[in-house]
Amino acid sequence: MRLSLRLLLSLLLAGATQACFSDDHWNGKHAAVSLTYDDSLHVHLDKVIPTLDKHDFKATFYLTLAYPPFAERLDEWRAVAAHGHELGNHSLFHPCDASTPGREWVDPERDLSKWSVARLVDNLKMANTALQAVDGKKERTFAYPCGDMSAGGESYVEAIKPEFVAARGIKGRIMQPDEVSLFDIDSYMINGSSVEQLTQLVDDAIDQGGLLVFLFHGVGGEHPLNLDNEKHTALIEYLNKKRDQLWVAPMVDIANYVKKRSSDATP
Ligand SMILES: [Zn+2]
Repeated sequence: MRLSLRLLLSLLLAGATQACFSDDHWNGKHAAVSLTYDDSLHVHLDKVIPTLDKHDFKATFYLTLAYPPFAERLDEWRAVAAHGHELGNHSLFHPCDASTPGREWVDPERDLSKWSVARLVDNLKMANTALQAVDGKKERTFAYPCGDMSAGGESYVEAIKPEFVAARGIKGRIMQPDEVSLFDIDSYMINGSSVEQLTQLVDDAIDQGGLLVFLFHGVGGEHPLNLDNEKHTALIEYLNKKRDQLWVAPMVDIANYVKKRSSDATP
């Protein structure tokens, strides 16, 4: 009896240690969520920010600096950054590879298949300088325009590593900390999803104790890739309901955490 009680106790203790470990692996929370919004849209300032602020969630806004809502509303973007959101780099002109099918819409002047890696990197550095002038920050993450990772047929991933903490890709997957590829962080691109599909992704991240990155464009309009404002609000409210289990943070914070965690683990 005495022995089996001891056995039971040690089993319980082992279980508690394990639970402790898994609860701790996203900055003290069980799972992580990053909300990212691409292409500098008016709706991000007008609809998304008030919804996030209501629940004090911080997100990443991947800004394309040549798009009018950036230049027209600089002071508002500055206030967004001062409030703890990340202004991410989504390039000056949103160049994309026009050589692949379905890319007939790409402006020939912004055809990445005709650019050199050096030209692209110069552009991204200037975008970083402009963003620093707005938010005063030297560290930020990048989002590949159109998810393209090559210029002139050559990968530009290595060339941008000195300029950024990390970069977001577009493959939909929930990641464990050691599965995060810092210069190709997976994300789910949301277009017309139902509230059930969105909350299921959150439940999956919690079940797996993983990192879930959402990629939004239009919220309540302004972009062909769109999510209704009411559905976006429902998702944010669901995140708030689950916030005890979730670390909701901008990409730069999550990437820095993953980096530190892996460097601490290296002897
Ligand atoms: Zn984009």
